[in-house]
Amino acid sequence: MISAKIITIGDELLIGQVIDTNSAWLAEKLNELGVEVKQRTAVGDDREMIFHALDTLLPDTRLVILTGGLGPTRDDITKKTLAEYFGMELTFHEETLRHITEIFNRLGREVNELNASQAWLPSGCIPLKNWYGTAPGMQFERNGVHYFSLPGVPYEMKALFENYIRPFVAEKLLPDTQILHAVFHTQGIPESILAKRIEAWELQLPPQIKLAYLPSAGAVRLRLTARGSKNEPLEELLKAEGEKLKQLLGVDLYAEGDEPLEKVIGQLLKSSGKTLALAESCTGGYIAHLITSVPGSSAYFMGGIVSYDYVAKEVTLGVHHSDILQYGAVSSQVVLQMAEGAKRVFGTDYALSASGIAGPDGGTDEKPVGTVWIGISTPHQTRAYLYRFGNDRMRNIRKTALAALDLLRR
Ligand code: ATP
Ligand code: MG
Repeated sequence: MISAKIITIGDELLIGQVIDTNSAWLAEKLNELGVEVKQRTAVGDDREMIFHALDTLLPDTRLVILTGGLGPTRDDITKKTLAEYFGMELTFHEETLRHITEIFNRLGREVNELNASQAWLPSGCIPLKNWYGTAPGMQFERNGVHYFSLPGVPYEMKALFENYIRPFVAEKLLPDTQILHAVFHTQGIPESILAKRIEAWELQLPPQIKLAYLPSAGAVRLRLTARGSKNEPLEELLKAEGEKLKQLLGVDLYAEGDEPLEKVIGQLLKSSGKTLALAESCTGGYIAHLITSVPGSSAYFMGGIVSYDYVAKEVTLGVHHSDILQYGAVSSQVVLQMAEGAKRVFGTDYALSASGIAGPDGGTDEKPVGTVWIGISTPHQTRAYLYRFGNDRMRNIRKTALAALDLLRR
């Protein structure tokens, strides 16, 4: 296996002002490509520290990716430092100046000296065109180690990775390796129960296939990675194991590949020509936010009411005052009436409602923090379900939203 080192550069990373998401993103992508990231280092805009990071590679490292510090300002020293490290002069690169000029012309601005200085690059590097910005990336090679220096801005960095590093790894570094992935999304089933259910299957997996659990609030993704040489029938192998896994997951599987639950629900509603409304209390509009994050959601989502206070539940949704007093706002009686109210107000086929104690305060012995009632009203009936989530407010909100959406497909 080939190993890699990631070096992220910038003072802002060291004082906690910017979270180093570049390094996490790169590590994930490299890992998927079959490159093992053995070192990740964040350093300041500091010549000594960049030298030190470059000098401390492991013996099997063949790939080094650096991000940040390529801008034209005084604090950005990566380019200058790399030129010095590799013993190169800065030379003028015509094509880069043309690209910079084009960008500035489009913005209706003149190229000044500082901007033009970005067209001076270390003489022995391969310049990598940056479609979204003015700072080009750079590729170096020394003693069989390949170095890629990318801009710090995440979307610029990602574009350069996809255009240059991904094909470079596949064609040059791992020409005989084949790596395939399959991802299965589950919702509403705890990781430990899932693990038990698929244990026997996991034990019989062929050596080329590995399973990874990727849990997040309320959902667990299972990723199968098949790795072998180009002449192995990995695709068939992965498919066969994927089918077995799907059987075991049953209704708890909601999607394959990279589909979020809100998109899966959207497709279901759209294809059946049905509409949806919401009555949200503890989620405060988060379910509506997830639904409307999907392009084209206006075809099936009519609207929602954030009925946070008692009065809002009564006035906008017609929840009975006496029921709130008798059973409490977090109760099956109230979410049933909320769902029916939303369906009536918006004239939809379906409605979801949620009322719960997100925390950290407001819990009682009978209804501790994390207690949530979710209602669903369909064309035929209205039902309510009780959930007990954890202590963290934001996770409870997300878990509630996912559990509510999940009811629509069960
Ligand atoms: P520019 O030409 O915009 O100056 P640059 O290559 O010099 O690009 P930096 O100045 O290091 O990049 O970073 C620009 C911005 O990109 C930072 O302010 C920060 O918001 C973001 N950024 C930089 N490095 C990282 C990182 N490792 N993870 C996440 N975001 C980052
Ligand atoms: Mg900068």
